[in-house]
Amino acid sequence: MAALPPEGLTENSQGALSILIVGAGIGGLSAAIALRNVGHRVLDKSDLANDTGAAIHLCPNANGILRRWGVMGETFGACVLSRFVERAMDGNILKDVDLTESNARWPHPWHLVRRAALHRELKRIATAEDGPGIPVTVVPRTRVDKVAPELGLVTLESDQELKAHLVIGADGIYSTTRKAITGKADLNHTGKAAFRFVLPRVAAELNPLTVALANQHDTFTVWFGKDRRVVMYSCDDNALLNFVCIYPESESSTPATDGTPRQGWSGDATREIVLNVFRDFDPHLKALIAIADPPSIKVWPLLDMRPLVDWSRDKLVLIGDAAHPCLPYQAQGAAQAIEDAASLAAVLPIGTPPAEVPRRLALFRDFRFGRTVKIQEYSRLMGRDWDVRAYEAYNFDHDEIANSAALFKKWEEDQLREES
Ligand SMILES: Cc1cc2nc3c(=O)[nH]c(=O)nc-3n(C[C@H](O)[C@H](O)[C@H](O)COP(=O)(O)OP(=O)(O)OC[C@H]3O[C@@H](n4cnc5c(N)ncnc54)[C@H](O)[C@@H]3O)c2cc1C
Repeated sequence: MAALPPEGLTENSQGALSILIVGAGIGGLSAAIALRNVGHRVLDKSDLANDTGAAIHLCPNANGILRRWGVMGETFGACVLSRFVERAMDGNILKDVDLTESNARWPHPWHLVRRAALHRELKRIATAEDGPGIPVTVVPRTRVDKVAPELGLVTLESDQELKAHLVIGADGIYSTTRKAITGKADLNHTGKAAFRFVLPRVAAELNPLTVALANQHDTFTVWFGKDRRVVMYSCDDNALLNFVCIYPESESSTPATDGTPRQGWSGDATREIVLNVFRDFDPHLKALIAIADPPSIKVWPLLDMRPLVDWSRDKLVLIGDAAHPCLPYQAQGAAQAIEDAASLAAVLPIGTPPAEVPRRLALFRDFRFGRTVKIQEYSRLMGRDWDVRAYEAYNFDHDEIANSAALFKKWEEDQLREES
C-alpha cells in the first residue's frame, strides 16, 4: 500500500471522481483506462497473477473500443483470424472456410491474443505517465474483503479501509463485491468444464504426426464430439497454439493435492487426464495434447448465472463477469467487460457530482442489461450447436462507445425537457 500517492483519494477540484476498482483483470483495467481518459482518479486493486486463461479472442466489437484507447493487438502478437476449420471427432474435415472476405464486413479486426499480453498492455496504458488524465495506481496482491456500498468504503484483507466516490466491482465470476448487492452466491455448474493450455508451435513442428496441424497459421479449428469439443487457435504471432477442451465435468476426476476434485478457476490437470477424456478423438490432436507442458494445463468449470437484476447499490457497481458471467462458447466474456467499461465512462463525464453517482450507475445498467442478457443466452445456445451466423452480426457489429454516448445524450435531453 506504500505505492498509493498521498493525494490518491482526495476530491479533485477539477470535477474528477475518486474511483476504486476491485480487480485488475480485463474488465477492471479497461474501466481504469476508460475512466482515466475521462479524467477521473482511479486506484485499481488486484490480488492475483495475470497469466491465467491462456489466449482469448478479441472480437471486432471489443477491438473497436480497445483501438480507440490505443490498445492495438498487432503490437503484442495478435493473430488475425482468417480461417475456420470444423472437424469431426476423428479429424475428418467438415468445413474449411476462408474468413478473409467475410471478416471484412466488420469495422475492426478479429484478433486472437495471449491473455497475459493483453493484460500487460491494458496495465501499461492505464498506468502510463504520458496518457490523458491521471495515471492509474495498480496495487498488486491486495485482496478486498468487503464493500460498504452506501459509504463507498472498501475493506482490504489487511483491515485497511479505503473510501471513494465510486467503487467498481470488477472481481470476476467469483466476485466478493457482488455479495454487497445480492447477498448470496448464485452461480450454477453447467456440468461442463474446460482444460486450457498453450504449447509452442516449434514443438509441434518437430513431430510428423502434428506438423500439418501446427502449420495452420491464423486458424481456428474445432473438433466436435457429441458432448465434448476441442478448440485450437494460434496466438503470439503464431508462435503458440492455444487449446480449450470442453468436456463433461464429472469425467475429469482431477486429482488435487487434497484429494478433492479441483473445480475453481485455474485448477491443475495432467496430460493423462486430458488424453483420457479425449481418448476417442483424432490421433493427430492427441499427439498435440501429448506434448503440452503439464504445469500449463489448467481446468476451468463452466459456470452460469441467471441474469442479475441489480448491478449497483449506492456507490458500488458491478461490471464484467461479476455482473454477467458468460459461457465461453461465444468468446464474448472479456469483450462484454470491455464494453461495460466504455459505457460506464459515457455516463460519468468529468464534472459528474458525487451525489449523482448512484443514479448514473443505474443508468449504466439500463444501457447494458439487454445486450449482456442476450449474449449470455446466445452463448448457452452455442454450447448446444454451432450455427454462429445468427449471432455474429449482433455481437460484432456493435459499437458500445457510440451506443452509450447516444443513449446518454438522449437521457440528458430528457432531463432538460423535464426540468423546463
Ligand atoms: C474456458 C474459457 C474461455 C474463454 N475465452 C474467452 C474468449 O475467447 N474471449 C473472451 O472475450 N472471453 C473469454 N472468456 C471469458 C473471459 O475470460 C472473462 O469473461 C473475462 O476475463 C472477464 O473479465 P473480468 O475482468 O470481469 O474478470 P477477470 O478477468 O476474472 O478478473 C477479475 C480480477 O479480479 C481479481 N479479484 C478477484 N477477487 C478479488 C478480491 N476479493 N480483491 C481484489 N481483487 C480480486 C482477480 O485477481 C482478477 O484479476 C473465456 C472464459 C473461459 C472460462
